[in-house]
Amino acid sequence: MSTKWTPGPHRRPEASTSPDAADSSLATTADRKDTDFDVAIVGGGFAGATAARELGQAGLRVVLLEARDRLGGRTYTAEFAGRPVELGGAWVHWLQPHVWAEMRRYGLGVIEDPFTGLDETRVMGNDGVASVVPPDQFLRDIRDGFEKFCHDVWQLFPRPYEPLYNPKVLELDELSCADRIAELDLTDTQRIQLNSFMTLYGGAVTSQFGLPGMLKLYAAGGWNYDAFADAETHYRIESGTLGLITCLIEDSSCKVRLNAAVERIEHNIGAVRLHTRDGNAVSAKAAVITLPLNCYTDVDFDPALSLAKQNWINEGMISKGAKLFVHVRENLGRVFAFCDEAQPLNWVQTLTYGDDIGTILSITVARASTIDVDDKAQITAEVRRLFGDVDVIDTRGYDWAADPFARGAWPAYRVGQLSRLPALQQPEGRLFFGGSITANGWHEFIDGAIESGLRTAREVQILLGGDGS
Ligand SMILES: Cc1cc2nc3c(=O)[nH]c(=O)nc-3n(C[C@H](O)[C@H](O)[C@H](O)COP(=O)(O)OP(=O)(O)OC[C@H]3O[C@@H](n4cnc5c(N)ncnc54)[C@H](O)[C@@H]3O)c2cc1C
Repeated sequence: MSTKWTPGPHRRPEASTSPDAADSSLATTADRKDTDFDVAIVGGGFAGATAARELGQAGLRVVLLEARDRLGGRTYTAEFAGRPVELGGAWVHWLQPHVWAEMRRYGLGVIEDPFTGLDETRVMGNDGVASVVPPDQFLRDIRDGFEKFCHDVWQLFPRPYEPLYNPKVLELDELSCADRIAELDLTDTQRIQLNSFMTLYGGAVTSQFGLPGMLKLYAAGGWNYDAFADAETHYRIESGTLGLITCLIEDSSCKVRLNAAVERIEHNIGAVRLHTRDGNAVSAKAAVITLPLNCYTDVDFDPALSLAKQNWINEGMISKGAKLFVHVRENLGRVFAFCDEAQPLNWVQTLTYGDDIGTILSITVARASTIDVDDKAQITAEVRRLFGDVDVIDTRGYDWAADPFARGAWPAYRVGQLSRLPALQQPEGRLFFGGSITANGWHEFIDGAIESGLRTAREVQILLGGDGS
């Protein structure tokens, strides 16, 4: 199934049920001397869309193969309680330079979800007991806890976009976030806050989550707690993540094929041939691969990828989180809660509130295995453990670990992986590797995906030269 992307205000491509004329020729390319396209891009998330825009604007013939029936990948603008919500990546900031530059380029505004002006803040320990902590104290505690956790970050990451610049990072990569938390002198509240935060950023238990990967994000946020906190959860894109990805694709003149899951990539033939599950094939001079790490096992590379990349693929990406929105009848005001590692609702914040609508809570679940995000009764029970006997009207969840084209959530490094980042970024012949997990800077973020799209596009252009040969 395929579609030609045509310009228009935030228009999405619609999958057609029969291949169009251009696509039907793709299956018979074996007889052709030339390739169907200059570049094939695997994956239509922010990494793939950025690479497509760059390469399309450079005058190259680009096809983008996306397994789903929509673009955006781990970003997903949807609707809940009559409002637009982001079921995946959401928050952006000017301290995330790549995504911000794209928003400026296309003139996109922001919506605010401030982490300040909170009416009520709570923490819940692993014992399941929720405590109200006054907002001022809650914010002081988290800042102080974070500053202790990140005490050496300036020395370790003087250049956050060159993550291995200080060789000491290699030693530190043997440590987990749990190791660092255990070393610190913290209050009970701070321990819960840091555990919640780190389990969330890892999408896994804190003993699996590599310490320097987390510290690097903090460094990218300006080595400063308030700046980092503002960067990670304050501003959403006004037109949704879909608005930005639409701008990128409209600007690319690339050919988008939806429902085109790549299952085999041959790259030893002086070109690249990509086979999709629907029996089609497309050839190109180079390919940009932006698969989520846990989806590489679905694709047969011929010849096989380097052993270093295979190690990454076999280890996989740890983050197995989920997103959840809950509509509560009561007006709870602007609330925020952290729940400890063993709890399902690790990060809870008010998205919208008012006497007319009650409260819409935006919740991030670190480990989707701790709760069924489609089970309203289970969710209601958990929300009541935090906020008392509230009336839950509706819920909407998205389990990214169960999504076959993600198999995981925000990209987090397990212990020992950051040291081996260059192997993940390394081109192999005509194949170039992007995706936010390969980013030098904000690798858990949309910004990292865009950074990687820019890098891979540059690498492809160097290979193909000015004339696309
Ligand atoms: C719940 C959640 C919350 C997040 N919160 C934030 C946030 O607030 N701010 C932020 O900046 N980031 C956030 N992130 C992270 C951010 O969304 C991701 O880092 C980023 O979107 C990843 O982009 P990508 O292009 O690297 O990968 P993806 O978006 O995963 O794109 C890869 C694409 O490859 C496709 N694909 C998979 N298999 C195949 C195949 N065989 N053939 C063809 N295509 C295939 C997938 O369908 C997908 O479209 C969050 C992520 C999640 C899940």
